[in-house]
Amino acid sequence: MITPTHLQARRKFIQLSTVALLMPLARGQSATAKTSIDLPESHGYRDACLLFNSRLKPKPAAVMKCVTEDDVISGIQWANEHKKKISLKSGGHCFEGFCMADDTLSLDLSNMNAMSLDPKTHIFTVAPGAKLRQINDFLLAKGRVLPAGSCAGVGIGGLTLGGGYGMLARQYGLTCDLLMGLRVVDAEGKGHDCDGDHELLKACRGGGNGNFGVITQFRFRTQKAPSHLYNRRFKAKNLTPAKVKILLETWFRATKDLPRDAFSAFVLNGNSLTILLTHTNLQSQEQITAMMKPLEKLVGTTTRYYAPLYPAAIKAYYGRSGPLPFKNACAGMLRGFDELDEIAEKLAQHVAATPGVIWQVNTLGGAIQDQAFADASVFAHRDCSYMSEIQGYWHNAASEPNVIKAVDAIQNLLAQHGINRHYCNYPDKNFANPQTAYFGEHDFLKKIKRLYDPTDLFHHPQGVRL
Ligand SMILES: Cc1cc2nc3c(=O)[nH]c(=O)nc-3n(C[C@H](O)[C@H](O)[C@H](O)COP(=O)(O)OP(=O)(O)OC[C@H]3O[C@@H](n4cnc5c(N)ncnc54)[C@H](O)[C@@H]3O)c2cc1C
Repeated sequence: MITPTHLQARRKFIQLSTVALLMPLARGQSATAKTSIDLPESHGYRDACLLFNSRLKPKPAAVMKCVTEDDVISGIQWANEHKKKISLKSGGHCFEGFCMADDTLSLDLSNMNAMSLDPKTHIFTVAPGAKLRQINDFLLAKGRVLPAGSCAGVGIGGLTLGGGYGMLARQYGLTCDLLMGLRVVDAEGKGHDCDGDHELLKACRGGGNGNFGVITQFRFRTQKAPSHLYNRRFKAKNLTPAKVKILLETWFRATKDLPRDAFSAFVLNGNSLTILLTHTNLQSQEQITAMMKPLEKLVGTTTRYYAPLYPAAIKAYYGRSGPLPFKNACAGMLRGFDELDEIAEKLAQHVAATPGVIWQVNTLGGAIQDQAFADASVFAHRDCSYMSEIQGYWHNAASEPNVIKAVDAIQNLLAQHGINRHYCNYPDKNFANPQTAYFGEHDFLKKIKRLYDPTDLFHHPQGVRL
């Protein structure tokens, strides 16, 4: 809990931060939330260290629950006084727990979740700890939507700063592409508001996770919410690796020129396959149906179209509430089937051999590849129209080593075949060269890091290096 030293530091710093005092939204958070700091010896430390991924057992030097931007500023002072690096937690969904790196002060921003929508401009202002479920509830009630990920508990903070993709990304762009402005507190505890073509804003569109400072507020363009989500599923069971390869190649071909409002995922679980297909415009249905015909002939079952209202439909994709143990990671940003041709069967064998392992490919492309978005962001690998991901789950602890071994084996297989471009929001601590894997050429990010965090106070384990 709050120590007297901390309170003193806080008061001192608040006097310095008049800018922060002018920011009602960054300060006006949940009335019940309380600022606190938990050290390893505190009663609250164990609970404060709980993450969505219960496989992870983080050991931060301290966890400070922030309620206002002033708390963030006093946290920075605490870290400087105690010679600790800072890690940042918004929704706590990082696959590897980098939001609570060992021996750092972790600033927990999950209680900073205020949001508002300008009724005229439809600009959405939100603090970093807001979860996607809260955002959907808030915006959809007003007929608006922020294109983002599908899982309900993911925080807008981490999601946006690394990119943010979901079922509407091909239509409207990544979450970071809708980001018009933000507020950041830098390593000296100074607040900056960035809009338009500000270089820091560009760096935060895809390269902002824990690298430059603490984002305390985001401002987004929103879109008119779709009325319905048109869904279809294709399913096949008892697949041999050879059949998986044929289906995979057919799926890549079928999805190459999907209309922008459509999304698809190829989900291989054991030797069963489910192909998800969604779109938001009824007019696209005929074209998509024609594109999927070759797949329909190969799979076991194809569901009929079903089209619930959009606000209800997305709840089906909210996922489990957790915490739960898992090992997930990006398994390559891909340009097409060619990159998998040689290894598809081997990959399918690995997936079939270990219960709990799922390998998935999602469609990207569409608006994500628009030049204007590319120019205004650092999100790398926009030319990749697909992203593959590996997931490992287990029900009892005894299965964990086997599942992790299988996930690692798949990751090694992909790496050996030159698949080394990855999505920074799906990190794997074993990636050989994470900065290049996530950001490609990243001198620009180094420059921004030197400007806002020259002492590497915000040290992300796989972040931008000075
Ligand atoms: C179940 C599940 C489903 C997911 N689904 C999707 C999906 O559909 N689409 C998608 O794109 N991604 C998805 N993700 C990945 C998700 O985008 C990342 O895990 C993201 O980093 C989570 O953000 P967070 O705020 O919840 O996580 P946190 O762990 O709190 O933050 C992640 C990282 O972001 C940085 N960070 C957080 N807050 C701030 C801040 N305020 N200022 C500066 N840096 C900050 C920190 O470096 C931290 O390590 C999913 C993850 C999970 C576990």
